[in-house]
Amino acid sequence: MSIPMLQALDIKKSFGKSEALRGLNFEVEKGEVVAVMGPSGSGKSTLLHCLAGILAPDSGQVLLSGVEIQNLNEERRSELRRTQFGFVFQFGQLLPELTALDNVSIPLLLGKVKRKDAEGRARIWLERLGLAGMEDKLPSELSGGQAQRVAIARAMVTHPQVLFADEPTGSLDSLAAENVMNMMLESVRSEGTTVIIITHDARTAAYADRDVIVRDGRISGAMMGSGK
Ligand code: ADP
Ligand code: MG
Repeated sequence: MSIPMLQALDIKKSFGKSEALRGLNFEVEKGEVVAVMGPSGSGKSTLLHCLAGILAPDSGQVLLSGVEIQNLNEERRSELRRTQFGFVFQFGQLLPELTALDNVSIPLLLGKVKRKDAEGRARIWLERLGLAGMEDKLPSELSGGQAQRVAIARAMVTHPQVLFADEPTGSLDSLAAENVMNMMLESVRSEGTTVIIITHDARTAAYADRDVIVRDGRISGAMMGSGK
């Protein structure tokens, strides 16, 4: 049996009196695309933050390829987030004063890739996301769907093992959402990236191999079978 890419074992997390996660178990295999659904406030974002090592659970374990993330020091965890994880959020994630090309190049520049190489790779990713010709645009000059595709390019340019997406199409109309999902899925499938995507939208979830529902801080069962 292969070791799961990521695994949450009986994780609990409270914020004051609010129990966001109440003994949650979850796992995702390498290359699997899993949609996380469930009502607002059920714990989806908290789960994602725990899986990504941004938040530490109060109890339970999060394992990345069998290694407990909490056992790594903060420096190592932050390196992990920078080199092995990619993140896409609902909005407000692009740096407003930088062009699309610079926004996508940044993670590589932070990783000490030379500017010329970083920009070359950023151009390739912008093109893959249907954004050729938009390299010099500022975020304010992009549509919502284009901005989200730049964010996906930026998340994918470092070739992450896991892409975490928290309602990436939540602020888009349905046509733009479908376009973003199609391009995102095409890129992650071709790279073999593991994806955890939080969504409210059943159509978005339909792109996934599998979906899980979070209710009251636990996984409450799947809506559809594995479509793999
Ligand atoms: P979802 O993403 O499913 O909407 P969240 O994981 O954001 O849910 O939140 C789960 C619960 O934890 C909610 O009751 C929320 O109010 C609470 N919560 C989440 N983050 C914080 C925080 N930083 N401080 C206080 N309460 C929080
Ligand atoms: Mg949320």
